[in-house]
Amino acid sequence: MNQVSDRIAALAPSATLAMSQKSQELKAQGIDVINLSVGEPDFNTPDHIKAAAQKAISDNFSFYSPVPGFMPLRKAIVEKLKKENGLDYEASQIIVSGGAKQSVCNAVLCLVNKGDEVIIPAPYWVSYIEMVKLAEGSCVIVKAGMDQNFKMTPAQLEAAITPKTKLLILCSPSNPTGSVYSKSELKALADVLAKHPNVYILADEIYEHINYIGKHESIAQFAEIKDRVIIVNGVSKGYAMTGWRLGWIAAPEWIAKACNKLQGQYTSGCCSITQKAAEAAYTGDQSCVEEMRKAFERRRDLVVDMIKNIPNLNMSHKPDGAFYVFPECKSFFGKKTPKGDVINSASDLAMYLLVEGHVACVGGESFGDPDCIRMSYATSEENLKEAFSRIKNALAALK
Ligand code: PMP
Ligand code: GLU
Repeated sequence: MNQVSDRIAALAPSATLAMSQKSQELKAQGIDVINLSVGEPDFNTPDHIKAAAQKAISDNFSFYSPVPGFMPLRKAIVEKLKKENGLDYEASQIIVSGGAKQSVCNAVLCLVNKGDEVIIPAPYWVSYIEMVKLAEGSCVIVKAGMDQNFKMTPAQLEAAITPKTKLLILCSPSNPTGSVYSKSELKALADVLAKHPNVYILADEIYEHINYIGKHESIAQFAEIKDRVIIVNGVSKGYAMTGWRLGWIAAPEWIAKACNKLQGQYTSGCCSITQKAAEAAYTGDQSCVEEMRKAFERRRDLVVDMIKNIPNLNMSHKPDGAFYVFPECKSFFGKKTPKGDVINSASDLAMYLLVEGHVACVGGESFGDPDCIRMSYATSEENLKEAFSRIKNALAALK
């Protein structure tokens, strides 16, 4: 008999990983599926980073690593924050973990008590909600639709804050929408937060380097709230290192200490080889980051143009960062597939596109917007052209 705990029974599986898994299963059956479901760069990790890992193996970096990370890596992150973001942190405020995902979860578990409210603007990344559930917090979803470029306004934030609010989770550049908050938009949110000293801010900046409108802006730059901001970042997206598993937080020291304590009981330090690779990523030549960013920008332009030519797939804005498009697809709801099945939701549409069109996407429901569908363009231009031609044909077959 299945006696899994209530906590895990209540947890939804990751929709992004589930769609990716389905697409791999079809591929294993010999079906040529193009996977636009999971968000991961298709580039190989740059050579100088791989070489640092190879050297770390030869140099016997094979022992337990310090729970918060090796000091040279934490110092390299402090340097990066100073140089790229103009932010001052001490190494004691940096905790390295096994991925930005773990860092978000650490911070949520360290801050949120049962019944605390966590404000999450929608659309949001799938895992935030489930992490808050694990912490027994309560999610307060603020809908920021396409008409407002998927960005929460200061008035919406103000209206969502209650005496029970503990945390705001803000993701910019955003997964799944690609929206990027400007400095003045962040300042306006910071002005609201300055009036509420009990609210903490988790700034998920994992897509920092995939930005098409210029310099990355962090909400931690505003002095009046900096001592309540937890920056989450890592090497997965900007350095094409998703499989290496390394993320980090920069946070007030007491929060860093709490995350360290949690990791000490739960995972220990992150993989020693990966840490040496990440140190090389942060201290080495940064031109690889810019090359990949430029490639993503070309793909963004290509995909935006292709979507314009697909009737009833609506996207009113051009995403400014990350590598996702999140068009509205609700005009297909109620239509019938050639086999006679009715498309009732974005997930039905994603399943139809996968099974009949052989392109994997993710329905917007698990991102908090059931009218939209997410497509990742972190794949080659050739794949993208083929994928969008398949999508166009499959959608045209819906009557
Ligand atoms: N935050 C966001 C918004 C993401 O899209 C992802 C997906 N990778 C993560 C965090 C987790 O990143 P990592 O692979 O470093 O765990
Ligand atoms: N963050 C990526 C995505 O949204 C990777 C999958 C995951 O970790 O959820 O597709």
